[in-house]
Amino acid sequence: MTKNKSNSRNLVLFTLAILIIFILLFVVTQMTKKTDGSSTMKNKPDIASQPLMGNKDAKVTIVEFGDYKCPSCKAWGEQIFPKLQKDYVDTGKANFSYINTLFHGDESKLGALAGESIYAKNPDEFWNIHKAIFNAQPAVDHDSLWITPEKLLELAKTNAPKIDLKALEDDLKNQSFLSQVSLDEKLVKQFNVQKTPTIMVNDVMITNPFDYKTISAIIDKELGK
Ligand code: CA
Repeated sequence: MTKNKSNSRNLVLFTLAILIIFILLFVVTQMTKKTDGSSTMKNKPDIASQPLMGNKDAKVTIVEFGDYKCPSCKAWGEQIFPKLQKDYVDTGKANFSYINTLFHGDESKLGALAGESIYAKNPDEFWNIHKAIFNAQPAVDHDSLWITPEKLLELAKTNAPKIDLKALEDDLKNQSFLSQVSLDEKLVKQFNVQKTPTIMVNDVMITNPFDYKTISAIIDKELGK
């Protein structure tokens, strides 16, 4: 091999090495962006038949994939949701929707069936009963049986007086709104929801639902689009 040939081979190797370093840097930067609180999905969840709180024409929709039996969802509803409600929902900037996620078996399903029945028949009462069910979740020993038809009827009676209790009782017994619950389960699968609560802001999935600063920054960014 001549000296020239060896030099040009070294140059090629050097260029390749630089190129690889740049590619690696690019990949790492992209990954960092994605772990910075969010990842963008292909679309927003279709919430056409889901309960919606706030301005229906708002530019931003916040979706909670939640489970009445899940302690983190209760905590999220107490610690984070009131801030979102005050800053974005009450001001008309964003609206809020809730999708049932059944990660805790029969009790999750029963709570979801109650919510769907009430939403179908008395949509105005939905958010009252939604809050009441989370409030009723025991602070300790939430794994013990507490979502029962009796409990749900009692909560409806005290928190949502417009509800026809006999009809609700029958709906729970007959699983009348199972198709609505199944629709929610399809969304859970479609968005590959792995934990509750999972929060989405438009098509952006939030990594840490308790990081209010990041959620609010993402909402502001969506509002500015
Ligand atoms: Ca639903």
